[in-house]
Amino acid sequence: MSSSTPFWNLVVAGGGPAGFMAAITAAEAGLDRVLLLESTPEPLGKVRISGGGRCNVTHACWDPRELVGHYPRGGRALRGPFSRFASGDAVAWFDERGLELVEEADGRLFPRSNRSSSVIQTLREAAGRAGVVVQTHTALQRAEALPAGGFALALRCGDDAPSLQCQRLVLATGSHPSGRRLAQALGHGLVPPVPSLFTLAFRPNPLLVLAGVSQDPVGLDLELEDPLPGSAGRAAHTAGLPRRFRQQGPVLITHWGLSGPATLRLTAFAARALHHGGYHATLRLDWSGGRSQAELEQLFALCRQEQARRQLSNARPWPQLSRRLWLHLLDQQGADPELRWADWPRRQERALIAALRSSCYAVAGRGPFGEEFVTAGGVPLGEVNLATMESRQVAGLHLVGELLDVDGVTGGFNFQHCWTSGWLAGQAVAAARGH
Ligand SMILES: Cc1cc2nc3c(=O)[nH]c(=O)nc-3n(C[C@H](O)[C@H](O)[C@H](O)COP(=O)(O)OP(=O)(O)OC[C@H]3O[C@@H](n4cnc5c(N)ncnc54)[C@H](O)[C@@H]3O)c2cc1C
Repeated sequence: MSSSTPFWNLVVAGGGPAGFMAAITAAEAGLDRVLLLESTPEPLGKVRISGGGRCNVTHACWDPRELVGHYPRGGRALRGPFSRFASGDAVAWFDERGLELVEEADGRLFPRSNRSSSVIQTLREAAGRAGVVVQTHTALQRAEALPAGGFALALRCGDDAPSLQCQRLVLATGSHPSGRRLAQALGHGLVPPVPSLFTLAFRPNPLLVLAGVSQDPVGLDLELEDPLPGSAGRAAHTAGLPRRFRQQGPVLITHWGLSGPATLRLTAFAARALHHGGYHATLRLDWSGGRSQAELEQLFALCRQEQARRQLSNARPWPQLSRRLWLHLLDQQGADPELRWADWPRRQERALIAALRSSCYAVAGRGPFGEEFVTAGGVPLGEVNLATMESRQVAGLHLVGELLDVDGVTGGFNFQHCWTSGWLAGQAVAAARGH
């Protein structure tokens, strides 16, 4: 490396939300010569497409103890980081930089404009004001930790392969394989990446006629199947993973199977076990809204009494039960929807109550991804100091965002981890400069 090699106090590799937060925080705290590298022509690409183009920035979940419950990977270990910078801090951070976030009924927070471009503009303006140099079309290819401290970096920039040196390096490359390779080359381990936050496919789909129906709340009880002969190595239980997962909440029936918030939450928590099990499982759905057998029997007895002369098709046992779902369940039991409640055979009623409480479907694979898609896996959390996001392996190296083995359920939690880890890294880098 020649003495003319450019020198930066901080290089951030990856122009996503975690990288921007780290660079801005360090520069705003007084660090100069901060360079942010982005391999594509435009930084913050995922922010642009996030939340259906609206960007679900974070979630109105203010208590770090509660917040950690939304991270299938990360969980309790994130209590420390969130106690320093959580959702409320993110809301204030954006507000101080001119971006107001608005809470929706389900707790998700979006920019008032409802456009992800406002979030991008806020981050880019804050980076510009703080003096962060953003270089696009430039990928970090290799990083070598120097014996005397700092890093020698090899870049790829079109046909050029420039090099530079920096005192500290933040890897913020998201789920991109190049960032994982860089982390591994620097001595880090890797939890193998698998998809999270996907929908479930039934093949064939016994609920096809109900495509478009949503129901809330629905209980989901997923059980991974016993290993097929010859596939024992892939089975979840042989990998020491849980085999049973439960969730409750809104679901949406689709052409291929099941989607909706509760399904995405279920697949996030079951992501690794489902992967090991080849995405084959049994799913029991409780359509009854959590009612007990006795409550349902009472409700049906009341219908027989009060709606005795009405046809089954026109009188559902409770108004929130989708009419299409009710008709489908009647059809499944061979019940004539034209029958009046008073004339309905008890035997069919009992079977219908049983179907409401537990209907069984065979999961045969992953469906398309929901609006949000993240990767489970990455650099193990135990390999970083969670107060500074600094590597325990390599001094001066920080790892943030989705590159780490952290992922949240849908609802703004994935960005929140980016804001938190980026902010902690930026603070630590700026503080280290003074020593
Ligand atoms: C369709 C979709 C919608 C989503 N919606 C939401 C949502 O509404 N709310 C939410 O919380 N989460 C959402 N997510 C998840 C969220 O986008 C990610 O968790 C988040 O973007 C991860 O941020 P990051 O900074 O770690 O990585 P990224 O956003 O992936 O950024 C990493 C950047 O690094 C660049 N890069 C990679 N390798 C190199 C290299 N070697 N050198 C230089 N640059 C490199 C990449 O080009 C990329 O720009 C969504 C995801 C998807 C796919």
